[in-house]
Amino acid sequence: MPIDTAITGGTVVTSERTYEASVGIDDGEIVAVGAESSLPEAEETVDASGQLVMPGAVDVHVHIDDQFSEDSYRSATSAAAVGGTTTYVDFAWQAWTGDMSLFEEEGTLMEGIERKKEKGSDALVDFGLHGAITREDPAVFEEIPEAIEAGVPTFKMFTAYEIGLSNGFMNRAMKEIGAADGVGVFHTEDDSVCQSLVEQRKAEGQTDATHFPGSRPDYAEAMAAEDAARMAVEAGMQYYGIHTSCRKAADILEYFEEEYGSELLRAETCLHYTTLDDSVYAEQGNRPVIQPPIRSEDDVEAMFEHLEDGVLSVVSTDHCAYTLDQKEGGAWWEINPGANGLQSCLPVFYDEAVNRRGYDPSFVVELLATNPAETFGMPEKGTLDPGTDADIVVFDPEETFTVTAEDNESVADYTIYEGREVTGRPTKTYVRGELVADDGEVVGEPGHGEFLERDCPDWD
Ligand SMILES: [Zn+2]
Repeated sequence: MPIDTAITGGTVVTSERTYEASVGIDDGEIVAVGAESSLPEAEETVDASGQLVMPGAVDVHVHIDDQFSEDSYRSATSAAAVGGTTTYVDFAWQAWTGDMSLFEEEGTLMEGIERKKEKGSDALVDFGLHGAITREDPAVFEEIPEAIEAGVPTFKMFTAYEIGLSNGFMNRAMKEIGAADGVGVFHTEDDSVCQSLVEQRKAEGQTDATHFPGSRPDYAEAMAAEDAARMAVEAGMQYYGIHTSCRKAADILEYFEEEYGSELLRAETCLHYTTLDDSVYAEQGNRPVIQPPIRSEDDVEAMFEHLEDGVLSVVSTDHCAYTLDQKEGGAWWEINPGANGLQSCLPVFYDEAVNRRGYDPSFVVELLATNPAETFGMPEKGTLDPGTDADIVVFDPEETFTVTAEDNESVADYTIYEGREVTGRPTKTYVRGELVADDGEVVGEPGHGEFLERDCPDWD
């Protein structure tokens, strides 16, 4: 019996090495990696000469179809497919009421999980969910084992906004999550420091976006990270710091990781903190208003220093799809923070890391695919090992193109990378062996993407 597909003649890139090899796919899984002559006969042969063949990107921090994103699962997974991301992890919200909320009444975490699973019924790529705890109601603790049972072993908490939790409540939640072998995922910015600085700027009428970064300073991020990481190690809970943006916060995480090890603490940064600096606010106004803010050139350097030493081990997007209407026409404190990045992530980060900074393509695969999959309990993702899912990107490392929102599959009608010339572009994206994007076009069947039940990750 021939296998389904052979991708031949390309350069295979894993997190460990880069070598000439062909990849055999059958029944949605990788069945062989090696010399073309060693592969079984295939019904279809795809010539990847001159191209890289790598695991699809795994984006563990995206916002889809809720109060933080206008994207539907259809539009977001289309952006993911074209951009070379084959799995993402979105958020299942414990419904709350308030200014930021779209919910009419409070609800449970498990209802949030069911809601997002339904929204994902027309997904093109696979998706998982983090539970998001938004209210200080201890009833949520009883849902933690249930959520884990349902394949949602990671729980997000915020230190800021109306959904921000007090240290006291987070401390209790961390003990519950730790006892259940789950992971706590933290947005860390000191709320009162940020709020007070925002109010000060409002009072002074500093409406221009150049005043935004100072309203959520690096030290406020570091302060909250220090509190949360300290409580996590006391609770013995696996701690994951999301969207680390600055040297001061990364240095705090470095202290805890050196003291307690990467079996207890891990952290990410995002595409925009590695590829843009705060000059974007003068150039682009409100469009790059993201929280935490895009920081200084030195902070960008710090992100690479800490990606290299492993304090930061994942690059995600924090994809939030808003339209220009939602971003412009008001002061920076009146608009929705966040920006879309799913479609740009692999090519823009590859170009920055490999072409501009001289890293090996394996570094990109490690940060965008292998580490996030391993960190979040997805052993079938993020690798090209035989027996794992055939989530594969064929990537032309020589093709140069200019990023423009005209190509966006997301409903977001702008991109903060507009006009950026990058070399390296995904040409084919496979999810469990099915071609879902081909040369920039979506070709997959909506509904091919599946909800991924994740295991509790073991970071030892
Ligand atoms: Zn986010």
